[in-house]
Amino acid sequence: MGFITDLRNAESDKVSFVTAHEIVHQWWGHQITPADVQGAQVLSESLAEYSAHLVYR
Ligand SMILES: [Zn+2]
Repeated sequence: MGFITDLRNAESDKVSFVTAHEIVHQWWGHQITPADVQGAQVLSESLAEYSAHLVYR
């Protein structure tokens, strides 16, 4: 994505946002892991998405 995305006319920097999302997964999902129950992935993804928005903002 970082090599082929053309950001010249983009309204937002999706590459930076996706990078932030993946970096915060080092916390949400790797350091802090939910119990192995239904909805565990939703919790990790939601918190990673929220944190990425804070970083991006
Ligand atoms: Zn994710």
